Amino acid sequence: MGKPTGFMEFQRNTIPYRDPLVRINDYNEFQIEVTDSHLQTQGARCMDCGVPFCQSTTGCPVDNLIPEWNDLVYKGRWREALDRLHKTNNFPEFTGRVCPAPCENACVLGITNPPVAIKNIECSIIDRGFEEGWVTAMVPEHRTGKKVAVIGSGPAGLAAAEQLNKAGHNVTVYERDDRIGGLLMYGIPNMKLDKHTVQRRVDLMEAAGVKFVTNAHVGQNIDVAELKEKNDAIILAVGATKPRDLPIPGRELNGVHFAMEFLRANTKSLMDSNLEDGNYISAEGKNVIVIGGGDTGTDCIGTSIRHGCTSMVNFELLPKPPADRAPDNPWPQWARIFRVDYGHQEAEAKFGNDPREFCILSKEFIDDGNGNVAGIKTVTVQWTKDDSGRWNMAEVPGSEKVFKADLVLLAMGFLGPEATLVEKLGMETDQRSNFKAEYGRFATSIDGVFAAGDCRRGQSLVVWAINEGRAAARECDKYLMGVSSLP
Ligand SMILES: Cc1cc2nc3c(=O)[nH]c(=O)nc-3n(C[C@H](O)[C@H](O)[C@H](O)COP(=O)(O)OP(=O)(O)OC[C@H]3O[C@@H](n4cnc5c(N)ncnc54)[C@H](O)[C@@H]3O)c2cc1C
Ligand code: SF4
Repeated sequence: MGKPTGFMEFQRNTIPYRDPLVRINDYNEFQIEVTDSHLQTQGARCMDCGVPFCQSTTGCPVDNLIPEWNDLVYKGRWREALDRLHKTNNFPEFTGRVCPAPCENACVLGITNPPVAIKNIECSIIDRGFEEGWVTAMVPEHRTGKKVAVIGSGPAGLAAAEQLNKAGHNVTVYERDDRIGGLLMYGIPNMKLDKHTVQRRVDLMEAAGVKFVTNAHVGQNIDVAELKEKNDAIILAVGATKPRDLPIPGRELNGVHFAMEFLRANTKSLMDSNLEDGNYISAEGKNVIVIGGGDTGTDCIGTSIRHGCTSMVNFELLPKPPADRAPDNPWPQWARIFRVDYGHQEAEAKFGNDPREFCILSKEFIDDGNGNVAGIKTVTVQWTKDDSGRWNMAEVPGSEKVFKADLVLLAMGFLGPEATLVEKLGMETDQRSNFKAEYGRFATSIDGVFAAGDCRRGQSLVVWAINEGRAAARECDKYLMGVSSLP
């Protein structure tokens, strides 16, 4: 245990963000660098509570050994902390930046006090590891001669590829996009996760022997049957890329886009030309409405503000969550409370108010007379629970309202993977149209084909994609070798 009285002596103090009015002028990461002693003090707050719920099923999905590295950081033993961290997490530099930190919601200290700043400590351990040159390519000593194709290069595909390469298999990752990383590269924007951080890890994996093929759209310009024949196993990690649409009148108008059209184009143009090629959907001088919340909605808000939008409104269908945990949402569950993310903070700083409008249902996109969107007709909805405990939504009579909009971004979630591979492989899907493969075994209905990440579990989190990529790699290794020593 770090400092026995640390949790009583020190307050939670997370890594601060840069001033919102300054950071909206660039795409650099929003966190400020802090000193080692800041993190050591935070590590000292860990109570080493005996049953660390932070690494239980309600806590960290990759079972990070949190109290162990908290203690090592407090003692200044950063190298050992890094080794301990890499035992469970292939990419702590990603989770340390973008994870919503369910571990902190399950922290025992959090029952009575603000929890330990676990995510910040994780990020600092790996950042320090890179600075010191401790993170190097892990070239396997022996090769098995087995070949595995990983399709999709998001966190699930990358975790699976790194684990299988460590086990000595020859791994090739096929990615349809022009850069490797999945949503780490082209979903989550630079201010949350700098793309050099993603590329740095990809480069290390390449140096360790993983092969990457970009612009390789399996099922289109790469034949999946041929891939299956040439490889001993396949891991599908193609994500949940089918966006939920909003089929209301006016959906066809110019200026109504899916969030990913907007975010992907922005990051690509930013990386290709610092936005000079103009190959992106600009929010400059526009009244922007983002429909839907979550990380995707927040990223649309932050990106639109960086473009210089004139106004920002964010519709949420659900009611505003409570400030504190409701009685039916006790510790150590994920707390369903009102949170202010970086994009909301930036909108508030720029426009003077939080952009979110709760309980709003969009009814129709309004045409400006030239085929462009000019606004959205909405109604307010009310949510009530019936006797069986089910929530019902009803429109409030007379609550019709029109919101002005020149650009509408649809961020209402995703409906599973695209159908091409299912059709080409003749594979089974579950009721939600995800690839059918039991959690823990990850085997699809096709022999030698495994599935991991959002394409199997539905839209989720980076940390879950890493969990699934690692576990699917272990199952794949067992399939190839009979046994596996992968964790
Ligand atoms: C805008 C946005 C922001 C997010 N922010 C966060 C966040 O802050 N924190 C968090 O934890 N989670 C966040 N998420 C969720 C998180 O990014 C995903 O859960 C995670 O990336 C899923 O990983 P994956 O490897 O399963 O799939 P993905 O990351 O989606 O990667 C799948 C890859 O497969 C490729 N592919 C698809 N089909 C083919 C094919 N046929 N051939 C070759 N390649 C193919 C795709 O191009 C893609 O690169 C966010 C999601 C979005 C959309
Ligand atoms: S990966 Fe996420 S849940 Fe796990 S320790 Fe890091 S921040 Fe917490």
